[in-house]
Formats: sequence, C-alpha cells, structure tokens
Amino acid sequence: MNLQVNQELCIGCGLCSDVAPAVFEVGDDGLSHVIGAPSPGNADAVRDAAESCPTSAISL
Ligand code: SF4
Repeated sequence: MNLQVNQELCIGCGLCSDVAPAVFEVGDDGLSHVIGAPSPGNADAVRDAAESCPTSAISL
C-alpha cells in the first residue's frame, strides 16, 4: 500500500487522524501526515479515511 496525503488538498479537518490515529496525524502545520504504516488491524480504517476525506487528499 503506497499511502500518501496530498498536502495541497488537505484542509486539516482531522477525520483521518480520528479514524486511524496510528497512521495519520494532523501536525502543527495544520495538515495531515502519514506517521505510520498501515497494518492488517487498521487497513479498513485507513481505507475508510481515504474514502471519507472531504477533499480526496488521501491516496492508497
Ligand atoms: S481527512 Fe483529508 S482533509 Fe481531513 S485531515 Fe485527513 S487528509 Fe486532511
């Protein structure tokens, strides 16, 4: 899984970090960053975050 957050699209809403906090974190810059690799235990949550991101900033 090649997981990325497009910083140009992210609006820092925090949805992804709420859904998968081990993988996404909204930093001091107000944008989401990938902080960990998806695991089998949170792959569904990562997929949900990508599908639910309001600006489609997350690519898998
Ligand atoms: S859900 Fe999308 S817009 Fe919201 S913080 Fe995550 S990447 Fe950014």
